[in-house]
Amino acid sequence: MPTDPRNFDSLVKTLVRPSVRLTVEPIDDAIDLALTDSKFGGLPFLEDQRWPTCNSCSNGLAFICQFNLRTLAPDLTLPFDLFSFFYCHECMPMSTDDSPGMWAVRISKLPGTSTAQLPVDGCANEDHHCTPCSVSAARVPSLPDWQDDILSDELRDLSGSLNPDEPWEPYQTAAATLVGEPSFTSHIGGYPQWVQGGESFECSECGEPLSLFVEIATELDANLMWGDSGSVYLFHCPNHPASFTFCLQCL
Ligand SMILES: [Zn+2]
Ligand SMILES: [Zn+2]
Repeated sequence: MPTDPRNFDSLVKTLVRPSVRLTVEPIDDAIDLALTDSKFGGLPFLEDQRWPTCNSCSNGLAFICQFNLRTLAPDLTLPFDLFSFFYCHECMPMSTDDSPGMWAVRISKLPGTSTAQLPVDGCANEDHHCTPCSVSAARVPSLPDWQDDILSDELRDLSGSLNPDEPWEPYQTAAATLVGEPSFTSHIGGYPQWVQGGESFECSECGEPLSLFVEIATELDANLMWGDSGSVYLFHCPNHPASFTFCLQCL
């Protein structure tokens, strides 16, 4: 029986998830960013005042970015308000499994008023410092890439039956109509935009499939390049949202 393209579109529509697209813009002076603001570069909020170090080379990790979820994504209900990401550009870890301790996430519940001292940047290599940038947010719908493991065989077969020569084309056309053309931007939630093939992860504690918490894209304004135009992906479990799985993909 031939597939009705309208049925196919409504099937694709069921996969739409909200995502928070992040816009990263350079600022004149890092001093304009408060300690708990969302930012790339500058100084993070560190509750314990201890700068994370790399387990492999012992250098201070580079501070990449910090997201204040109260302002960027107030709809999320998570046991933390502030998320910060650190990375060792010397050791260049590519995944959680091959690189324990060469990257770090810090999360905090924000106090009503911050009494924290300014941390001292523990990454000695200034070439690895991000250019300070502000971060603003916009809610947008998102859909998986064609190569994402989350697409069912049924949906792939339907797409293939609509265009046997280019089985991905009906899906990509439907997705572009529903959520627009894909763009490689940093974002919270939604689906990963894979630079290479799709990957999927399960929680090591409860076996649930992990969902994307954040994709940190190459951000040239922030002097941040993951290999060649790559992205960092951090996943977590709905039941264990405070532990993260990391992977990096680049061209
Ligand atoms: Zn290192
Ligand atoms: Zn879990």
